[in-house]
Amino acid sequence: MPDNKCQQIKCTVTECAYNTNVMCDAPMIQVDRNGVSKASNSPHTRCETFKPR
Ligand code: SF4
Repeated sequence: MPDNKCQQIKCTVTECAYNTNVMCDAPMIQVDRNGVSKASNSPHTRCETFKPR
């Protein structure tokens, strides 16, 4: 894994099954555009890996 790869994801979505102490514990996550053809701000993105508890 390259040194510059993000290995810690802080996430405040504590209702997600992968969330532990405001950190993401999923082995990987997928982030998609949020219904737009070209994202220009963070609300235009969303975590596809979210799973309800
Ligand atoms: S899977 Fe997505 S929503 Fe769930 S804890 Fe990880 S980053 Fe947050």
